[in-house]
Amino acid sequence: MKILITDPIHEEAIKILKELGDVVVATDLSREELLKEIEDTDILVVRSGTKVDRELIERGKRLKIIGRAGVGVDNIDVEAATERGIIVVNAPDASSISVAELTIGLMLAAARNIVQANNSVKRGEWNRKKFKGIELYGKTLGVVGLGRIGQQVVKRAKAFGMNIIAYDPYVSKEFAESLGVKLVDDLNKLCELSDVITLHVPLTPKTKNMIGEEQIKRMKEGAIIVNCARGGLIDEKALYEALKNKKIRAAALDVFEEEPPKNNPLLELENLICTPHLGASTEEAQRAAGTIVAEQIKKIVNG
Ligand code: NAD
Repeated sequence: MKILITDPIHEEAIKILKELGDVVVATDLSREELLKEIEDTDILVVRSGTKVDRELIERGKRLKIIGRAGVGVDNIDVEAATERGIIVVNAPDASSISVAELTIGLMLAAARNIVQANNSVKRGEWNRKKFKGIELYGKTLGVVGLGRIGQQVVKRAKAFGMNIIAYDPYVSKEFAESLGVKLVDDLNKLCELSDVITLHVPLTPKTKNMIGEEQIKRMKEGAIIVNCARGGLIDEKALYEALKNKKIRAAALDVFEEEPPKNNPLLELENLICTPHLGASTEEAQRAAGTIVAEQIKKIVNG
């Protein structure tokens, strides 16, 4: 059995896979080399770098399992795989805590101007007035999307004494209440009521630009927006205007519509802080992503 790994995955995962067959780790393949390698591959394991499209899947005549050591399966043509009876496995919960912790970190950084103050001190300044912040305590946090990550954010924000509301049309009022969250039935309402808004929904045609001019207009003066979900959920032009005229106090983004952002005017704004899609970039999340997928593959192989 040949197991081909085409993106870097955690060594513990490789150890598990080695028990199952001949592991080939080849993370620098050209497209042509990949199309050749796949021909005699039984199990393919990728992260987000490898595009597993129809052509690749059809070339993999022996392919039985595709493992994605991560959350989404955006880079895998699941339909093409299913047509061929290939099982696709992933690790949807591996990075939830890491993303939630980054979200809280960005929320605090935005509320207290941590990034700007750090840069200022390093420039040799000592400006204590300029960086006066706000407390999260007692503020209303609006969570958009009460799934795996949204729920972890809620748990942590509760410890800060925040009042939490959420918008998610696919969960019940009772479920939200069990988390100590008040569910609102309309995104605009959430925007009106929240001091801090954090997004935890997938990017779909329905959620694209869900935070646009209209939603920002409804937000409180000086609201904070955090996006550790997907670029494209926020209309970046509308956000730029709102940050520039200080309607929005600060925004913290881990994701952008175009990654890495090119000539993006948002990056010129002092009240925009950002990270390069680091949500799942922790030792723990990467180990979990790899080992969860490897264990699933082991289960399938062993029947
Ligand atoms: P999830 O599927 O567990 O939860 C998503 C939630 O969004 C669900 O409860 C769903 O009902 C809700 N939802 C769907 N459409 C909605 C809509 N139109 N309005 C409101 N709610 C809606 O997903 P998750 O694991 O919590 O991930 C959330 C987001 O975080 C995803 O976009 C994911 O891609 C992203 N993510 C980012 C990183 C990163 O590195 N920054 C890492 C992992 C995941």
